[in-house]
Amino acid sequence: MTDLSGKTGLIVGVANKRSISWAIARAAADAGARLAVTYQGERLEENVRDLCAGLNDPLVLPLDVSDDEQITKVFEEVEKGFGGLDFLIHGAAFAPRDELASPFVQTSRQGFRVSLDISAYSLIALARGAMPLMERRGGGSIVTLTYLGSTRVFHNYNVMGVAKAALEASVRYLAADLGAKAIRVNAISAGPIKTLAASGIAGFTDVLQHYRDRAPLRRTIDTSEVADAAMFLISNASRAITAEVLMVDAGYHATGM
Ligand code: NAD
Repeated sequence: MTDLSGKTGLIVGVANKRSISWAIARAAADAGARLAVTYQGERLEENVRDLCAGLNDPLVLPLDVSDDEQITKVFEEVEKGFGGLDFLIHGAAFAPRDELASPFVQTSRQGFRVSLDISAYSLIALARGAMPLMERRGGGSIVTLTYLGSTRVFHNYNVMGVAKAALEASVRYLAADLGAKAIRVNAISAGPIKTLAASGIAGFTDVLQHYRDRAPLRRTIDTSEVADAAMFLISNASRAITAEVLMVDAGYHATGM
């Protein structure tokens, strides 16, 4: 099992117990890491605080990733609380509901702007904040969450697919920038899982069934399986891996006809 004792991590993207980021937080905490967990706005605060009550002395902080001041504040608090940072999990994504139900050609300028800002630019802003804290630890690992809709067309995924393409390209550019500081940047491309974010995608139940029918393993995946892959990318076992998109999708990405 991965040993993260003495390590500190920042987890962005927990909404509730079904969140992929929460499964990663649990796994990292079980491996001994101390965590800062953020919540997006007051609506989610109580939920996230309740979940975090079971962690080892966590920092629980507000963070809307579209707000630079809140990003600065989070890293100030992490610096005060932890002195440095070993890993960052980025699991924030958003697209307005309309954009995920109408034809892609109808994507609005505002919908495009918001989706790419929250789902892709936020990784760059958070990596910038994490960089000096990771340098103090002699390096670090940044992991984001993406989906195959970045490179293939999935009905109704629409502007989120474009945002994930930008996110994956950002992983590569960040990896190139930060590699000299021994900071690695990778993405996990997860198969579909029924979470709050997924419930915004029209026809999501059909997507799950399609994976059960077609994926080489003939099943969908669960959040604990993404968390296990994240533990690998956080840990020393993946020390030579950066700029990578790791597929955790029961092999679906390899299928054709
Ligand atoms: P989720 O709804 O539990 O998590 C999405 C998170 O994004 C929430 O915690 C939400 O608060 C946060 N968020 C949205 N806007 C934000 C903002 N402005 N500031 C801060 N946080 C914000 O759903 P999830 O499925 O666990 O999603 C986590 C990540 O995994 C996302 O990037 C998603 O695209 C990705 N992903 C999900 C699936 C899936 O099928 N569920 C598959 C592949 C990738």
